Amino acid sequence: MSDIEIDSGLNIDNSFARELPDFYALFAGDKAPSPELVKLNRPLAQTLGLDLANLSDAKLAEMLSGGASVKGTTPLAQAYAGHQFGGFSAQLGDGRALLLAEVLDSNQQRRDIHLKGSGRTVFSRGGDGKAVLGPVLREYLLGEAMHSLNVPTTRALAVVTTGERVMRQHLVPGAVLARVASSHIRVGSFQFFAARGQSDKVKLLADYSIERHFRHLKDSPDCYLGLLKEVCNKQASLIAKWMNLGFVHGVMNTDNMTISGETIDYGPCAFIDSFDPAAVFSSIDSQSRYAYSNQPAAAIWNLSRFAETLLPLISSDAEQAIPQATDVINSFEQSYQQYWLAGMRSKLGIDNQEPEDLALANELLQILAAQKVDFTQLFRALANLVQGDSEATKILFTDTEVFQQWQQRWDARLSRDPQSSEVRAAAMNKVNPIYIPRNHQVEQVIKAAEENADFAPFEKLLAALTNPFEQGQDFDEFSTPAPDEFGCYTTYCGT
Ligand code: AMP
Ligand code: MG
Repeated sequence: MSDIEIDSGLNIDNSFARELPDFYALFAGDKAPSPELVKLNRPLAQTLGLDLANLSDAKLAEMLSGGASVKGTTPLAQAYAGHQFGGFSAQLGDGRALLLAEVLDSNQQRRDIHLKGSGRTVFSRGGDGKAVLGPVLREYLLGEAMHSLNVPTTRALAVVTTGERVMRQHLVPGAVLARVASSHIRVGSFQFFAARGQSDKVKLLADYSIERHFRHLKDSPDCYLGLLKEVCNKQASLIAKWMNLGFVHGVMNTDNMTISGETIDYGPCAFIDSFDPAAVFSSIDSQSRYAYSNQPAAAIWNLSRFAETLLPLISSDAEQAIPQATDVINSFEQSYQQYWLAGMRSKLGIDNQEPEDLALANELLQILAAQKVDFTQLFRALANLVQGDSEATKILFTDTEVFQQWQQRWDARLSRDPQSSEVRAAAMNKVNPIYIPRNHQVEQVIKAAEENADFAPFEKLLAALTNPFEQGQDFDEFSTPAPDEFGCYTTYCGT
């Protein structure tokens, strides 16, 4: 491998490196023994401004796996702390990742290019600093699915296999995920300095976050309270979207909650199939802390930790700061409810608002839970019902009578929201996907890639997931739940 500097063509501007010198350790990553580009997200690469005409796959593989010299970059590993399952770790940080560069993309949006699996850093603790192919492909699929489902998220830019075999339960192919985010500032980034009593550093980070994400707050006398409000609002909106789609994040630790409001860290996450409010997939979430229906409460808990870090900035008088911050945290519930209900109205084809909508939505969910109905299939089938076709819904219920009683109330409700059935069905089909990353499918495509280096199944599933609202040709297998023999699904951290 050469050490000649790679010219990426990117418009690089490393503000984090420049403005927050005490918030990271410089780290360029380890060179992979035999890097190979196995997947590039071309549309995203183009938006970022990567010079694909002049960058060979070999150069891209070198650049996006770590250890290469890339013009204009100041690669670094960020410091952060975090509450993991409620217990505080004062020092986490990028243990196997680095921020390669901040880029101004073709829309002049500032975006981080991050490499995950690029080697041990000063923050690695006992970890090996590596990532492996299966979980990297999983993050690619889940993140791109979320993006296509209109959920704010980090996105996958590339997958590079390293040529190494890495020990997990057994030896598996090593890989690096290049991902893109509007920033990697987390609740845990604030906690890192707050836990050390360094409120000057917390202030620097808060000012940087305002400049980067909430510039309209800059001249506000209450900008730090404003920052808390904005982050609460972004998270309320985000978690409502997760809930509306049946997404279980699985590891909502404070280091995995962004200030930008993007979903981050696709370790043990999964989508539910049959509706179950208590759904948990992660092998380590034995207390169900991050179960599907606990996610809004988990968000409030995390945001309360964020608020604590900001208290000294909100007011030097704690007696002033605490009630103000508490009011903001207390408002999360209502704002979350509003986002969630707006999402449910859209899923149900309702445009206007009536007080009974909340009960209507909740009663449907109760029926789905009682009869273990597939969440995604049912909502998609409701558009058929609107157009007079009851076949698709009927087959999903064991006791159709309860559903029909609910349907009568829904029909009555729809009659008070005048729209043609075509318009209503079309609108519903834009929010109720046909394709989600179904667990058994995700496992199958990973297995083919891991065991046989066969990426064709991955590409096919990805194609369905990147157009989740449109019926695709030859994608039927992706729209149905796992066969019974697939059993209960468990996901693992330590990816
Ligand atoms: P996560 O559970 O992925 O959010 O990671 C929590 C913390 O563990 C972060 O500080 C990660 O950088 C670190 N970490 C996870 N896996 C590894 C690994 N294989 N090597 C080093 N650090 C890791
Ligand atoms: Mg994490």
